[in-house]
Amino acid sequence: MTEGRYCSQLRKDGLPCRALPSRTTGLCPAHTAGHREICVEAGKSKSTLRRLGKRLSPTLTPLMDALAEAFENVENGTLKSSQAMAMSSLASTWLKAYELSLLELRMATIEKQLSEALGGQHG
Ligand SMILES: [Zn+2]
Repeated sequence: MTEGRYCSQLRKDGLPCRALPSRTTGLCPAHTAGHREICVEAGKSKSTLRRLGKRLSPTLTPLMDALAEAFENVENGTLKSSQAMAMSSLASTWLKAYELSLLELRMATIEKQLSEALGGQHG
């Protein structure tokens, strides 16, 4: 066993934490002070996600499921915060692209209606 290669804390199940530690603290993100607060925020986001899930477009459901799962995995220590951050960043980019495509669709509809209305006025 290599000393210092893994986080020095124990997991909730009592086994040694196998997550990679920070060089400065010797602790993984899950065992670093402040993680609890992050989890509380994640928990809030999780319930918001579940609430939103009921009103979501089916296109977004897989993404929201994956995010809700990621929240749980960060909380129970099976997903590194850095991985979760990367996922969050991807999800955010994905959502922006989705929003943009929705907006374009709406704009196209409005433009069509407008040109029809103006066309009607001018005969
Ligand atoms: Zn740890």
